[in-house]
Amino acid sequence: METTLDLVAITDLNSVTTYLNPAGRQILNLDDDSSGIGVDLKNFMTEKEVDAILNFGLPQAESLGGWQTEIQIRPTGVDEPIPVEILLVPVRNQSGEMNAVNVFMRDLLEREALQTERREFVSAVSHELRTSLTSMRMYTDLLDTGDVGELTEQQKLVVNNLKSTVGRLTRMVDDLNVVSLLELGRFGLNIDEFDLGDLVDSAKVSCQPVCDERGVTIVNEVSGSDLKVSADRGRTHQILVNLLNNAGKYGDENSEVIVAAAADSGFVTISVTDSGPGIADEELERIFENFYRSTDARISRVSGSGLGLSIARGLVEAQGGKLWVESVVGSGSTFSFTLPIA
Ligand code: ADP
Repeated sequence: METTLDLVAITDLNSVTTYLNPAGRQILNLDDDSSGIGVDLKNFMTEKEVDAILNFGLPQAESLGGWQTEIQIRPTGVDEPIPVEILLVPVRNQSGEMNAVNVFMRDLLEREALQTERREFVSAVSHELRTSLTSMRMYTDLLDTGDVGELTEQQKLVVNNLKSTVGRLTRMVDDLNVVSLLELGRFGLNIDEFDLGDLVDSAKVSCQPVCDERGVTIVNEVSGSDLKVSADRGRTHQILVNLLNNAGKYGDENSEVIVAAAADSGFVTISVTDSGPGIADEELERIFENFYRSTDARISRVSGSGLGLSIARGLVEAQGGKLWVESVVGSGSTFSFTLPIA
């Protein structure tokens, strides 16, 4: 409590503190020598908010064990109010009656600023790493082609391992960069009109190595349908590759993955269906979080970073579409996304 960046206070039932931690004294802009005891938190809120907290928040906290909301506070001597998240948790006596309140407040402006700083940092670091990785790739290519001398069979093997490690690292760094740019809302798009069937064919070629490894066949049912979308070709390719690689990695061995599309009211819905293990209900939304990987994926050592689906969803949403999944455990999953019709 003494070192956290959030406000932590203990108050009586009338919002007057019996304890206020150093971060709280700072957030409320109290004098340096303030003990933090006897501070009336109501003085930092509007009448309406005080009313809502005393008449609704506290009874809710008492009956449910806690109550949380967002309010604005006005620290001493500061004109601009700051948005905070406030959490009230009852303190009870031995007979279970609430006789004091634990108050937690988090400065939302500061949290947002920290998030932006983190994203900027990830974006800058991934850019720097990318430059070094490009040189590494160039040097491994030089070794591989024999331009700097013939290699023995054993040396060739080492260079090949090095090349695939550099490739994996490059993909990971690129993914991190895309995630940070999407989160920062600084994602440029190159909108174009193109044939969806052709794009599925080219994504299929990119996913061939992953699918071949497990005998998975991609069936392009969009081919020849003459469906054209208005989207960023490179990014749509990436969305499809992420979904198809997943279908290849997690689908059953020697199975088929079907890519289909249907047009409806200005949008095309593209779906990728596999006959794999499916996804449990409680994981259906979590799989779209950054770095989330199911326990099964980690245990069975399927390669991945947990960024593919969050990137795919971010790229679809940046183009005005939606991406979702339907799945039946034991039979398979269908990932679908929409894009505007050309
Ligand atoms: P990664 O594949 O690198 O783990 P993703 O973000 O692409 O990351 O996927 C997140 C998780 O969602 C995977 O770890 C896996 O558990 C699950 N998942 C994704 N696609 C499928 C699929 N087609 N079938 C079953 N599970 C899947």
